Amino acid sequence: MKVLFAVSECSPFVKSGGLADVAGSLPKELQRLGTEIRVILPKYWEIDEIYKQKMKKVKEFTVPVGWRNQYCGIEELQHQGITYYFVDNEYYFKRPGLYGYFDDGERFAYFTRAVLESLSQLDFYPDIIHCHDWHTAMIPYLLRVEYQSRKRYGFIRTVFTIHNLQFQGIYPKEILGDVLGLDSKFFNPWHIEFFGNVNFMKGAIVAADKITTVSPTYKQEIQTPAYGEKLDGLLRSREEDLFGILNGIDNGVYNPENDPLIAQVYSSTDFRLKGVNKQEIQRRFDLPERARTPLMVMITRLTKQKGLDLVQRVLHEILEEDIQFVVLGSGDHQYEQFLNYAAGTFSENFRVYLGFNETLAHQLYAAADLFLMPSLFEPCGLGQMIAMKYGAVPIVRETGGLNDTVTAWNEFTGEGNGFSFRDFNAHDMLYTIKRALHFYRDREAWPRIVESAMKMDNSWARSAFQYNQLYLVLASRSETHVF
Ligand code: ADP
Repeated sequence: MKVLFAVSECSPFVKSGGLADVAGSLPKELQRLGTEIRVILPKYWEIDEIYKQKMKKVKEFTVPVGWRNQYCGIEELQHQGITYYFVDNEYYFKRPGLYGYFDDGERFAYFTRAVLESLSQLDFYPDIIHCHDWHTAMIPYLLRVEYQSRKRYGFIRTVFTIHNLQFQGIYPKEILGDVLGLDSKFFNPWHIEFFGNVNFMKGAIVAADKITTVSPTYKQEIQTPAYGEKLDGLLRSREEDLFGILNGIDNGVYNPENDPLIAQVYSSTDFRLKGVNKQEIQRRFDLPERARTPLMVMITRLTKQKGLDLVQRVLHEILEEDIQFVVLGSGDHQYEQFLNYAAGTFSENFRVYLGFNETLAHQLYAAADLFLMPSLFEPCGLGQMIAMKYGAVPIVRETGGLNDTVTAWNEFTGEGNGFSFRDFNAHDMLYTIKRALHFYRDREAWPRIVESAMKMDNSWARSAFQYNQLYLVLASRSETHVF
């Protein structure tokens, strides 16, 4: 079976968040199961020279963008047994960063068509195209309304994975003809019209053969008005084709037993050695070197989704406890400003590092006793899984993938691998942090909690198997989804 992964970011080449981790690790696991998998993504300026130098141009052609034709180069790179294709167009992708430009709609409409055009150019016709998030969501749609009639395109099936329903790619009506090159007849509620605009994500939810999202709980949540981002009705109508498959983490990248980025390696049987990593962090951040004071960290995008409002509300109360708290993050200005202000005010036990720093992230996971992730919503969340692997006990809100991966410690049964609270409420979070601190001081309970966190199997094996099953079912079907 042949699968093409179409995605807007992919580790180790270019990463802004968890999507890149998924695109970087899932294909390797699928390949192990016997699927031939190739990955296609934009050739961003951001990509490291080491990789760019190894890329080989294999095709050049033009791609229609509305009434214009734009250049497209396909560059190939073999990396760890997988074929990667990079879509080269300097006008769209030779810019700093990945997203956030005024013409993102056009950039990814171009990418969508470049992917579809590249199939015949490369003479590579996959059984399945697996698309991810809004950037590639128009692929299943355009395949059905336009490319289907082309030779060999009609057999291709599509899977669309929702990594975050909040970002949908919503643009004014004009994009339909001017950029996507589609007839106005498609501007209706059964297709891609969405409250007077065009919605890319909706295109995939309408047209893909199967839809997946990244945790069983999030699958349920997005079918409700509270989490459905105005697409809950449509998602309910496709419930039969909707699956929740939990993400995994790459044990080759995140493993305290052999992580080259941390000062001291350790395993679940000698996790006390974490203390060496904690001391390193205390020194680096000029915090008092206290072995018995718990270190709590957050490593996150600084956005509303990640529960920063709760932190802001009760930070001063958290810091009254015997605790050290370090935040690594970047994102919204208002939160960056608040955290900077707080670091100045609570100089005794609070530190912040604003920016994206992968090495420091590893060092913090390895140093931390506690990992705070009080998300408003969380499709899957990788932070808590990585934290568990490194023996940093997670404190989370019971939503999405957090609900599916963290089991609250129960002192009566002696079971659990973290701490959790249900309502999006700052004082519930505070209470839960205090509860965790209480058990941190319990010499019997704490090692059990840390050990059960570290022993959680959050590897990709099980999820890759589920995706593979889905591909097999789809590839054996003669008919496509009708809408
Ligand atoms: P999301 O994809 O919503 O941002 P996830 O928890 O799924 O959240 O994945 C976040 C990933 O990005 C994790 O690997 C986390 O360690 C990493 N990360 C987030 N913020 C930073 C940062 N400022 N520096 C380094 N790594 C970060």
